[in-house]
Amino acid sequence: MKIYPLGVGGAFTKTNFHNNYIIHLNEKCLLIDAGSTLRYSLREAGYHYTDIDVVFISHLHFDHVGGLEEMIMQRFWQFNNGQHSPLKTTIIVHEKLLTPLKSLLSHGLANQGRTVEDFCNFVCLKEKEVYKIEDYSFTIFDTSYTHADGLFSFGFKLASLQSNIVFTSDVKRLKEANIIGQVDGNTVAIFQDVSFTFNGVHATLQEVLDYYPKEYYSKLYAMHYNDNVEQFQKVIDSANINIVKKGEILHF
Ligand SMILES: [Zn+2]
Ligand SMILES: [Zn+2]
Repeated sequence: MKIYPLGVGGAFTKTNFHNNYIIHLNEKCLLIDAGSTLRYSLREAGYHYTDIDVVFISHLHFDHVGGLEEMIMQRFWQFNNGQHSPLKTTIIVHEKLLTPLKSLLSHGLANQGRTVEDFCNFVCLKEKEVYKIEDYSFTIFDTSYTHADGLFSFGFKLASLQSNIVFTSDVKRLKEANIIGQVDGNTVAIFQDVSFTFNGVHATLQEVLDYYPKEYYSKLYAMHYNDNVEQFQKVIDSANINIVKKGEILHF
């Protein structure tokens, strides 16, 4: 799989765009989260809304869902030779997030006699239920309340026959989220949100290093981090973990 980091910044980033990714799975294009910087990060990366085959939404903070309605609208309002040729948007969500997400979208989309379903196809997954994208298996794991109290949030695992990646999305209390429980012998990368300074809703670099066994460090890919990342480069280098950079493609 080929992973294009559209952005790697935290919610308030000014320089790194929101932590959203495009993952190429053979011929299919999977978008991970659609934050409010998506309209800029997509363009900077040279993608169009219509390139996306399916989008996964991890939770309903604005850096993960704030750009979704625009994406849905832009895809719906496509014209071919003056003919309206709507492109529906396929959205993968955990079953717990389906109703809240539909409710959020309904305020902008459910009018003019249309419903949210006129714009979107929802792929609603139960815990551990597999959704096939090409030869890859996509499963969601529940990290609710380990990012923010009272908030549903979810990570995912994407696996081929030989290897898999684990993506935490946003997590503070790693032990409670049991991220290690998702890792197995075939895991080649763990995409982990990391804050360099104390943060009430994200694990700090020290908390991440304390949580994972040392043999996992080389598989850790820090993401969703502060804009002043350069100040912490030495610590990252000495810890021997990887850091995801905006626009730097990763292959697994
Ligand atoms: Zn976030
Ligand atoms: Zn969040």
